[in-house]
Amino acid sequence: MNVTAPFKLKAFAMADERSERAALAGAVNAMKFEGGRILADNFDGIGLVRDIEINLGLPMSGKRVLMLGAGGAARGALLPFLEARPAELVSANRDVAKAQALAAQVAGRGAVVACGYAELEAMGRFDLVVNATSASLTGDLPPVPPSIFRPEGMAYELAYGKRLTPFLRLARNAGVRNLADGVGMLVEQAAEAFAWWRGVRPDTRPVIDRLTVPLD
Ligand code: NDP
Repeated sequence: MNVTAPFKLKAFAMADERSERAALAGAVNAMKFEGGRILADNFDGIGLVRDIEINLGLPMSGKRVLMLGAGGAARGALLPFLEARPAELVSANRDVAKAQALAAQVAGRGAVVACGYAELEAMGRFDLVVNATSASLTGDLPPVPPSIFRPEGMAYELAYGKRLTPFLRLARNAGVRNLADGVGMLVEQAAEAFAWWRGVRPDTRPVIDRLTVPLD
């Protein structure tokens, strides 16, 4: 089964065995049942990386990457992001202690700089800015300065079906043309889960095309 909010933590607690990425995320979004045991994984992060690198054509290797938010989705994405070898990975959160705890958790796997939003102004431009906060669900904007965006870079909003969220609007006004929402991530994580259950990876392109809502 595939699991979404608000059941990801409950699914985590119910599992008998969890993958490393599920353990790090503290959340589970896919389960399977084998010999009476519940096996659990989290494909959100890998789905996000596949969408960015394969569907949207932005390899993260050597890039400056900024992740906003340190909740379940950000926690699931951090390890797959590090595996994509960015030049720098910054994790910013309103509650800085959460971003610091997250960076400390993956310390052995790569460098993550943790900070609050006030520090972003001094950090220059990023090739990829990912909004993994839930601010867009309530029409809010994390307090980020427009100076974080590189116009030729990409702004990625994890929420989907919300059209041009305040975050994507800020990025567009800062000159970013490469804007994306989380529909591709949603489809890619589902495809990963399907492959885990059935040993067959579905073709994601037609599904993404079918679900995509224009960003305007
Ligand atoms: P969580 O509730 O676990 O985390 C929420 C995060 O958002 C926290 O870091 C919180 O900061 C931050 N936040 C909330 N409101 C604001 C605000 N107004 N300003 C700044 N920061 C804020 O949520 P999830 O990680 O589960 O989900 C995050 C987003 O990702 C949601 O939009 C969700 O829909 C989307 N998502 C998309 C998926 C997809 O497949 N496309 C899959 C999973 C999630 P603090 O810690 O300081 O409170």
